[in-house]
Amino acid sequence: MSDNAKKDDPLFDRIYGHGSVIKSLRQEVHGSRLAPGYLFSGPEGVGKSQIADALIQTLFCVDPIKDSHGIKGCGQCRACRNMVDDNHPDLTRLGVEKGKTRISVEQIRQLSFTLSLTAMEAAWKVAVIDDAALMTDAAANALLKTLEEPPKGTVIFLITANPGMMLPTIRSRCRKERFTTLSDAILSKILTEQTDNDHAVIQEAVALGQGRASVALAFCDSKLIDLKNRFENDMNTLSIGRIGHLCDTAAFWGKADNWPLARQLTKTWFQQTIRANMMEEKEFFNHTVLMDAAVWVEDLLKRAAVFHIPPRLVLEGVFLHIARLVGQ
Ligand SMILES: [Zn+2]
Repeated sequence: MSDNAKKDDPLFDRIYGHGSVIKSLRQEVHGSRLAPGYLFSGPEGVGKSQIADALIQTLFCVDPIKDSHGIKGCGQCRACRNMVDDNHPDLTRLGVEKGKTRISVEQIRQLSFTLSLTAMEAAWKVAVIDDAALMTDAAANALLKTLEEPPKGTVIFLITANPGMMLPTIRSRCRKERFTTLSDAILSKILTEQTDNDHAVIQEAVALGQGRASVALAFCDSKLIDLKNRFENDMNTLSIGRIGHLCDTAAFWGKADNWPLARQLTKTWFQQTIRANMMEEKEFFNHTVLMDAAVWVEDLLKRAAVFHIPPRLVLEGVFLHIARLVGQ
């Protein structure tokens, strides 16, 4: 199938998994039973935004397709195409602006004003707020007013991986849909359709993706297997007695291109090592020391993301822990 043909397909046809959630959402659109606010939560990269987009395309479409699951945008009409090109006048997207860390009250006030105006082309005015948990308290309170008294024909989709960080009053005003990670079979199907990698690369990317399509796609590269082998080899040769080599290894894996993969491979290395250590009759590593190291590393990886610690420094810490384990 050519890229153009794919572009004109209904957005719902490009989504895999989440069958029962999608079915109920499509029926809500069909019956015009939409809520003014939807809270889509779940892990990063499982398709929350794509599903919101597919619903919005359906709302905007001038000639939606009916089937047994409800309706879906045709993909062909001007409204559907404008939606795909991110060029529809009745859709507003907002999230954390470049260089900022939160969604500001000014952004939400501007959104509320836009939603108060009459729709230009569609019967609906729609907004998507990405990373919605990153609204400031003032922004969240401003949005609450709009959710309490929504202008007629308004739908707001709030997307987040951290619903627990949001104001309970916002959560209670929204219809909530929780999305889970995708199965390996679905990930494999997505990667097979969207990339031209061979089976071995796809299987490795699926394993690293851990149910998240965007993560698996990011790792789907023909160099993946070479890099994964190199990482495993590097882990086996880490040594406290060769600090220079350890620092060089950290510098290589801390490069911007390698860091996301190194972070995931580190987590995978601990998972596999813990599993193998428990399966063996004789423990290869002291189990308590191994578990302590795994917890320490998991915590470091989280803190590194929050406090923007340079990846090379993070990996030096991680590799020192692994070297101590291997050297026992
Ligand atoms: Zn259409």
